[in-house]
Amino acid sequence: MDSQLQLALPTGDTVGLIKSIEVRRSARRRRTVAAKVEEETLIVYLPQRMSKAEEAQWIEKMRRRLEDRDRREKLNSSGDLGRRAKDLNERYFGGKLKWSSIEYVTNQNSRYGSCTITDATIRISDVLATMPGWVRDYVIVHELAHLIVPDHSTRFWKLVGAYPLTERARGFLIAKGMDES
Ligand SMILES: [Zn+2]
Repeated sequence: MDSQLQLALPTGDTVGLIKSIEVRRSARRRRTVAAKVEEETLIVYLPQRMSKAEEAQWIEKMRRRLEDRDRREKLNSSGDLGRRAKDLNERYFGGKLKWSSIEYVTNQNSRYGSCTITDATIRISDVLATMPGWVRDYVIVHELAHLIVPDHSTRFWKLVGAYPLTERARGFLIAKGMDES
């Protein structure tokens, strides 16, 4: 598959609408694969020179990207994560922590969360959305604690240990094959 090609996804809510896929090839198209949704059809624009096998791969890639994006938008539209983080910040960090965003992502399947201290952004794997609330709360507390301590030092675990179900939640996540993050 030509990794030089760029994928341009259609805007707006899509997956639920798509009933059929139509491929339009163009000799002028060289560097991008693009798509748009017209009524219930996903129209995929491909370079003329692309093989049938490559075409199938790109359509699959496009479909997966659209599904991920729709899922991300649906999960984050409720604002649940932000509310939970606010509550947990009050309860376990005296309400002192500040972050710029906390959201579900779909590209972190083995890691359950991540925190970038430089811009105070927190990402939670969408896998957590289907797990028990007390496990999700642990992951939020874990990532919030990284805003204070970036590593997994004793000081970090002391902070996270304030959450009473930390050890149980870690066991639950290990059993699910998810890595500490
Ligand atoms: Zn961590």
